[in-house]
Amino acid sequence: MLAQRTLKSLTKAVGVGLHSGQRVELTLRPAAPDTGIVFRRVDLPQPVDIAISAQAVTDTRLASTISSGSAKVHTVEHLMSACAGLGIDNLYVDITAEEVPILDGSASSFVFLLQSAGIELQAAPKRFIRVIKPVEVREGEGTNTKWARLSPYEGYKLSFEINFDHPAVDSTGQRVEFDMGSGGYTRDIARARTFGFTKDVEMMRANGLALGGGLDNAIVMDDYKVLNSDGLRYNDEFVKHKILDAMGDLYLLGKPLLAAYSAFRSGHAMNNKLLRELLAHKDAYEVVTFADEKKAPRGFATLARAW
Ligand SMILES: [Zn+2]
Repeated sequence: MLAQRTLKSLTKAVGVGLHSGQRVELTLRPAAPDTGIVFRRVDLPQPVDIAISAQAVTDTRLASTISSGSAKVHTVEHLMSACAGLGIDNLYVDITAEEVPILDGSASSFVFLLQSAGIELQAAPKRFIRVIKPVEVREGEGTNTKWARLSPYEGYKLSFEINFDHPAVDSTGQRVEFDMGSGGYTRDIARARTFGFTKDVEMMRANGLALGGGLDNAIVMDDYKVLNSDGLRYNDEFVKHKILDAMGDLYLLGKPLLAAYSAFRSGHAMNNKLLRELLAHKDAYEVVTFADEKKAPRGFATLARAW
């Protein structure tokens, strides 16, 4: 059986929120089979649980925010991406503020945390959402067009294209494809950092955002070049970060997808719209498990070996 996965032990991190600049403690804890991923705001007078789902996403400006009543957790996408990349099904995420710490701006610190806690196989089948009919969302016309699509595929792959008219981005790859079957998430995707432009950062700060952002947790560009003294981690780091974000946004579905995702200039809002479009078409997907792990798609079968 291809089994669900959780952590072997708990692990903690301390950091600051990218937008709030607030200090925050994060504790990742094992959870029972079929719990899913549940954020718990432990700083509130009564702790509030927020289980991930497409409907729990209530704000997608700048980052993906999930809520339950008035309790919120902002910027969940990089942690969710690490969980998607390592195939974590069940997890409690205790958090002491309303934003996940940005750490180094990529998913690699979360990958490190999850791997050092150890990953445990559980006595329950891993459930996937397999896309059986294409769904698509689209916005804008001409040069403003953006779209995202899920199509049937026996595995999980993502292709993303950006279209930034900026000298530092133009000189790098603006399109990338990543297949989970390669087993290369940690090496090829997880290290890609978030990015921003100094002129936007100034405007965001004036509005009380990006207060925790800086050169140690983002790629920052002026009108001409990258300002980080040690440059880029991948020559196509920008578009790879968009794949990293998409993996996190799509993992908010609550189950891993078996599908091909392709997108042009998509973002957190459109990725969530795509999930809601999928869920609105009951004939476009089915929930599947693999009694024989050898029959699981490439990439997921290797996840059967815990370490
Ligand atoms: Zn991001």
